[in-house]
Amino acid sequence: MAYMTPICKLNSDEFKSLYVKREDMIPYSFGGNKARKAFLFFEDIDKGDYDYVVTYGSSHSNHCRVVANMAAERGMKCVIIGPQEVSDSTYNSRMMELFGAEIITVPVNDVSATIDSKMQELTDYGHKPYFIMGGGHGNIGTQAYVECYDEIIEFEKENKIHFDYIFFASGTGTTQAGLVCGQLIHGDDRKIIGISIARKNPRGRDVVIDSIRDYLNGEYSEGEIQDKTIFLDDYTGDGYGVDSTEIQGTIEKSLVMYGMPLDSTYTGKAFLGMEKYIRQNSIADKNILFIHTGGTPLFFDELNKMRR
Ligand SMILES: *Cc1c(COP(=O)(O)O)cnc(C)c1O
Repeated sequence: MAYMTPICKLNSDEFKSLYVKREDMIPYSFGGNKARKAFLFFEDIDKGDYDYVVTYGSSHSNHCRVVANMAAERGMKCVIIGPQEVSDSTYNSRMMELFGAEIITVPVNDVSATIDSKMQELTDYGHKPYFIMGGGHGNIGTQAYVECYDEIIEFEKENKIHFDYIFFASGTGTTQAGLVCGQLIHGDDRKIIGISIARKNPRGRDVVIDSIRDYLNGEYSEGEIQDKTIFLDDYTGDGYGVDSTEIQGTIEKSLVMYGMPLDSTYTGKAFLGMEKYIRQNSIADKNILFIHTGGTPLFFDELNKMRR
């Protein structure tokens, strides 16, 4: 089931033409890019006779929340393998528990082996498990963001606007891979800029490029792919999930000025990175689209941390 998410203009004095595509408003389990991807994964799941879904992610994972929700809805069992290092209680992890997911936490270095042994164990007991990579990585996840790109093109046509820049939080890079594939397919010109929330280059960008190659299967030249993939690692701060007073300031300002919730792991960090990039490159007069990739439950974790 595909939902068209709204694109709204922000009322900003500094940024004259800044729009946001509200993926957080996908009407399922607090939405977000993980919901858009999971809809497609579950379309695939529904074609088979699977009785288990196995995936991985931390207690902060939006992906695990949405997958656990969709599995529970179908009466399917859901197994989530997560790193001990990030296993504190959050709104996302509490919902995973509410959905009845089996959560297995192991040291991060054992995650991969634990997935393999769990899949084997389920198969040995006569079950049929479906595995989804963390964050909804893979061609199905990429496809979800090719479709999102189609929606952006449709909005541009209807509203006679052309976005010169598209910014968003880039993690596993699947969202970015889908957008870049969409751009190559449509053949249009603009800068699609993934703001890394954790990974550094060259690896961060290489993972995006691998996903693009994998999806396009040799249809476009290496030069085109290289040219269109912009992955900025200047705004990762102190690493994945690490908050700062600057990010908290961005989150507060966004809620007060735009009525728009952001979180410190993904959207707040990316929004702040985008603001800095716009100033550094003097592009405040351009048509800019920020993709709000979701993570609303993380906003509430943030709110609990804020002190006034
Ligand atoms: C997972 C996630 C991202 C990153 O998406 P990728 O496709 O993994 O790059 C960005 N924002 C939010 C809110 C997320 O949950």
